[in-house]
Amino acid sequence: MSDFLDRARAAAGDDGRLALGGMPQWEVFPFEADLLRVRPLDEYADPEPDRRKDPADCKVCQALGRPELVLHEGDHLTVIRTGGTSLVFTANVVSRAHAPLDDLADDGLAELGLLVGRTYRALRALPEVGNVHVNKWENGAGHLAVVLPARPRGVLQLQGSNLPIWADMLPPVLEEEYAERAGRVRRALA
Ligand SMILES: [Zn+2]
Repeated sequence: MSDFLDRARAAAGDDGRLALGGMPQWEVFPFEADLLRVRPLDEYADPEPDRRKDPADCKVCQALGRPELVLHEGDHLTVIRTGGTSLVFTANVVSRAHAPLDDLADDGLAELGLLVGRTYRALRALPEVGNVHVNKWENGAGHLAVVLPARPRGVLQLQGSNLPIWADMLPPVLEEEYAERAGRVRRALA
């Protein structure tokens, strides 16, 4: 493990920065390559900070307490939408308990597969949607959340793994539009 950063630094320039990779050349990359530079590499964090956070600070726990955001309740998991989105829709499949994916037992894992698949289909069925992606990051809260962002149909510049970066910059959709779509997704998941 300790040679990972050694090798990365050996590949960096004199200023400690790696050169840009191939992604800035992609048509879907949000930024122009000639204005970018890579951050210098940090030292190892050892030990890493605990990913488990207090439920009082957890946005997922707060969302589970808001009925207008809940789309479907399962035995171990709940499908919610985010409080706002700049995309057509953003759904999260989350554990009912405040716990990371590490803690989900086999029956919860089976339900996770089912709900991710059904949520994907429910979002995919919205006529405004071009594609739906499936992501697990979970670094912020220590609460299992599989995020399904839905790309607007026909907006091909948002295709692929840069979608969350575009989403961070785009303006929010109107809440009344988002709530109306949530009703359709809720009925599809019933
Ligand atoms: Zn939580």
